[in-house]
Amino acid sequence: MNAVGRDDPKPQPPERSCPICGKPASTDRLPFCSKRCADVDLNRWLSGVYSIPGQDARGREADGEDE
Ligand SMILES: [Zn+2]
Repeated sequence: MNAVGRDDPKPQPPERSCPICGKPASTDRLPFCSKRCADVDLNRWLSGVYSIPGQDARGREADGEDE
């Protein structure tokens, strides 16, 4: 009998799931599975960053204004 191959301590990288579509991430595009998903996340991130300062400034400016 051969026990070789039963315990193979291979240095496997932890499996990650693409945060966009949930597919196994590609080692070239971590943490995403493809360039498409990386672009999707980038667009989400950028749109979120741009919307935060605008809303905050507006709310503070309008405070105290009464007719
Ligand atoms: Zn993906």
